[in-house]
Amino acid sequence: MAYLLPWVALSVLVALFAYGRGHNMLAVFGFLLLGLLFSPLVALIAAALIPPSDQSLIDKGRAKQCPHCLELVRPAANVCSHCG
Ligand SMILES: [Zn+2]
Repeated sequence: MAYLLPWVALSVLVALFAYGRGHNMLAVFGFLLLGLLFSPLVALIAAALIPPSDQSLIDKGRAKQCPHCLELVRPAANVCSHCG
């Protein structure tokens, strides 16, 4: 049972990593479960490969939606990089 603590700790770290990437709480909880039930490594790869949803990026203030073309742009942008 000595491996249980690092297993849980790594799973929590992967969940924090997913949160840091802008994933919403449901996805973060999913990655935590994936790490606990399967492997923290599998969860890390999934968290690194699956992009956060547009809505969760907007909710967290990481991006805003261009009113003209509806593409995501940086929050501080004055000119949309997609439609100009
Ligand atoms: Zn635009």
